[in-house]
Amino acid sequence: MRLVAGLILVMLALLLVGCTHAADSPLSVVFIGWDGSQRAHVQEMLQRNELPTLAALSAEGTLVEVDVNNGATDTKAGWTQILTGYKPEVTGVYDNSHFQPVPQGYSVFERLEQHFGPENIATLAVVGKKNHIGKAAPQRIPLADLEQRIARAEERQNRKQVNRLKRLAAQAVEENGEKVVPVPGEPWYLAQNAVDLFENGLGANEKVGARALEELEKHKGDRLFFFIHFQEPDHAGHQHGENSQEYTDALKDDDAWTARIIEKLKALGRYETTLVYVVVDHGFDEGKTGHSYAPYVFVGTNDTTFVRRQGDRADIAAHVLKRFGVDLAAINPPLDGIPYDQEAPERRAPEVKPTAPQ
Ligand SMILES: [Zn+2]
Repeated sequence: MRLVAGLILVMLALLLVGCTHAADSPLSVVFIGWDGSQRAHVQEMLQRNELPTLAALSAEGTLVEVDVNNGATDTKAGWTQILTGYKPEVTGVYDNSHFQPVPQGYSVFERLEQHFGPENIATLAVVGKKNHIGKAAPQRIPLADLEQRIARAEERQNRKQVNRLKRLAAQAVEENGEKVVPVPGEPWYLAQNAVDLFENGLGANEKVGARALEELEKHKGDRLFFFIHFQEPDHAGHQHGENSQEYTDALKDDDAWTARIIEKLKALGRYETTLVYVVVDHGFDEGKTGHSYAPYVFVGTNDTTFVRRQGDRADIAAHVLKRFGVDLAAINPPLDGIPYDQEAPERRAPEVKPTAPQ
């Protein structure tokens, strides 16, 4: 009997330590990006119990449908909307080939740095993709260089590359007697200055995942806003098609890495105070190898404050800023996104394919 009482005391003490620890760590947010995950495909996999981590996370909070109803269904437009809360008209990032740097101060990273002060939050981005979630400076490419690259791409019979470079070459302008092609800075060129870590182009999921775990360890005492981007469903979809086994496997891999990140948060004793959101930039054209019109995505989260409604890509930024205590009414220009704890007007994806450039 005394042994049992002793054990109970020990357990109570452990529980208390656990609680104090959780209460000590400030509210943090982790975005886990599943690039190019088609909603219908994910729903089928959930029904077959093939995405246990997304299922468990959503069971703690919710899984909402998100319909893209403005901006292209591609990577640049998608992540820009998700990480700013603005429509393309505000950021100038319309699609993968029509973009500019997000204006300074407009990203969630920068708003949180400003709200808490740089010493009081760690804003981090660990990203699989390179250019479409890029931070490169604007440049001026001499037309002569571009023509050499076109010739080399033609030798390799790389049609896609040839077309892309030819479209670029068509934009040449004359400057001081030389023909140059002005290339705009990538979306995160300005924001990167305020972000504590913006590492992109890491490639495969295991590289991104390992780096993310390292950063979680390094910042275990810090308030966090952490964007972790997994690229593999998008790549598998482009290579093998949306209905391929490879696409399914890539989604399973995203789910497995999501599990490892959550395990790490638990091991660090901070899962109770961390909101985790699985977020998606665009879906995939049904049965195809592209996503020219793929507006059906989702958000899955352990956040319990969502009202039951359909969402927009821009909503998640507004929601996270609100959860961190930022006064949304004071944000200028006003956000297009609406926090998920509020009702919002229906913003379903248009039925007809828009005539946006690909
Ligand atoms: Zn893609």
